[in-house]
This record gives sequence, C-alpha cells and structure tokens, in this order.
Amino acid sequence: MEEISHHDEIKHSIYKACSNSGCLTNKEYHGKDWRADVFAVYDNRKYAFEIQISKQSLNRTLERQAKYIRDGIIGCWFFEKEPGRYQEERLDLPLFKVSESNGEILVSLKEREKLPLNKFINSFIRNEIKFCNKLITTKKQIVEISFIRMDCWKCGAENHIYFASKGFYSACNAVINKDEMLWSSDRKEYMPEIIESVHKYIKTDKGKHLKLGRIEERYSNTVGHSYVSFGCAKCNSIFGDFYVHEAIMESYYGDGIIDKIRCEIEMNIDLNINLPHWCHPNNGFFCE
Ligand SMILES: [Zn+2]
Ligand SMILES: [Zn+2]
Repeated sequence: MEEISHHDEIKHSIYKACSNSGCLTNKEYHGKDWRADVFAVYDNRKYAFEIQISKQSLNRTLERQAKYIRDGIIGCWFFEKEPGRYQEERLDLPLFKVSESNGEILVSLKEREKLPLNKFINSFIRNEIKFCNKLITTKKQIVEISFIRMDCWKCGAENHIYFASKGFYSACNAVINKDEMLWSSDRKEYMPEIIESVHKYIKTDKGKHLKLGRIEERYSNTVGHSYVSFGCAKCNSIFGDFYVHEAIMESYYGDGIIDKIRCEIEMNIDLNINLPHWCHPNNGFFCE
C-alpha cells in the first residue's frame, strides 16, 4: 500500500473540515495558472486552502497569493514552519502555523490561541476570524492575584500585600501591557475593581487568614510626597513602594506566595495598541 504523505493527510483533513462546514469542496482544484490543495465555496465566497510542509519563502508565497487575489479567491495558508521573513500578520496573506498534538491538527493564531483545524475552518469561512489592525482590551478580564506576607516594619504585626498578573487581555486573548512605575497611583493592584475582588475574597472562609490594610494615599518621608500605597492593617503605617516592589520581585524566584486567586473581573479599562492580527474573539466582539 502506498504510504500517505503528511501533506496529503493534512490536505484530507482540510477537505473534510470544509465539507463538514457546509462548503462545496474540491481537492487539487485547477485554475488558470494555479492549483489549490483544497478549494471551497461558502456563501459565494471562494477559498483556496494551501498546506505547506516544505519550506516556501515569503516572496514565493506572495507570488502565489497574488493569483488568488487576482481571481477573487481568499487564499489561506497553513505552514508547518512559517517563512523566515514573515513576521507581522497581514490582511493580504492569511497565514497560520499548524502543528499536531495527540493526533489532532491545531492551527495557531500566534500566541493567542490554538484551534483544532475543524473549528478554525468553520470559523474562518463564517467570518468569525477577521483581520483587525488594533488590539483592544475587553471588559471581562481574567486576573490572577497573588498574596505575599509582609509584616509591618513599625509595629511588627503580621500583614499581607498582593500583586496582580501583568497586562490586560483582548477578547482574542492577546496581552496588552501597560507601563507601570513605582509611586504611581494607577497600578493595576489599586484599581477599584481589583480591590473589590480582593476584599470579597478575604471575607470568605478561605481568604480570612489574610490581613490586609487599607489601600490609600499616605505620606512617605522617603520620597517626600503622598502616594497610593499598601499599609499596616493594625497601625496604618505606609508600606513603601520600594519594599513592596522588592518583596514582589523576590516572590517571583522563591515560594513567598502564600495564596493565589484567579478572578474574572469586569474592568473599566480601554487600552489599545497597533497590532495587525487575525482576530478571533471569545465574546463575539472583534477588536475593531
Ligand atoms: Zn503596623
Ligand atoms: Zn483581536
């Protein structure tokens, strides 16, 4: 029996995924001067799906893509190894990395998400994956909050502080980072929605072992002005940002974290950055 090549195996999976999604589907379909691995028509839109196991340069790919564009076809490329010069995602070239895990073919939307091939094709032809130029934060944020012990430098009372996982998510699961500085009041930890979630938690049976002072403006002799800070639950002394920062850094390397929670929080944030991407939101709302 002839051995089925890896290329043909994936091609067949694409073919099946297309027909299961309700497309009119053809394998090895010939056009004027091109041949698509899988050609599919859905809702009057024409798609050419190409699987690329061997290397193919970005220029060569764009050359072949130009023919599809000329003929009004959406060429969609699956690469096992992305072309060297391909870095930024682009509208004129839907190109995705494929990999295999436990016999299942997965399609990567960069670091954001891996979708089973079936699901990807089904979403792609239904325009549930759309090209957006900007990444925008979504309202619902997953935040991990870690608690560490920090006893009061003044009265010695047992205290705790916390820090939140960095960055904010877009609906398509990309992380948008925000520059944060010491002694600034707009740290993620001080956002009212985060404080509220922490307070809710420390009122539960599981969280009641934590001792947290208020988060408020306190005057610091060290820097000579007031800033929003952690402080002692007993004597309300300021926990200076420098020491807080140091304690957090130390916990990255050791096991100083004594408790950790993961919350889904509705947050009032509106960050965006220019990052062209194929957007597949988890809530139906594209980045733009
Ligand atoms: Zn104290
Ligand atoms: Zn997006």
